[in-house]
Amino acid sequence: MTSVCPHCGRPDGRPFRVVSRHATASGMTVWVRCACGSLQIREVGPAGVRVVSRGGPVLVPEGGGCPA
Ligand SMILES: [Zn+2]
Repeated sequence: MTSVCPHCGRPDGRPFRVVSRHATASGMTVWVRCACGSLQIREVGPAGVRVVSRGGPVLVPEGGGCPA
């Protein structure tokens, strides 16, 4: 992955913290948080890694952002 965080410019390939991982029918969903606080949801499947959603640099309570 060669993209960078639009909020702080850090490489997406080096997330600050992996928040959680969830197995899905097609692979895995990984929630990661950038050092700036931006939460990102990635889908990891046979075709590689895809960014599903990316939040802004807003701090949310630990463990409170996972719908699964
Ligand atoms: Zn960032």
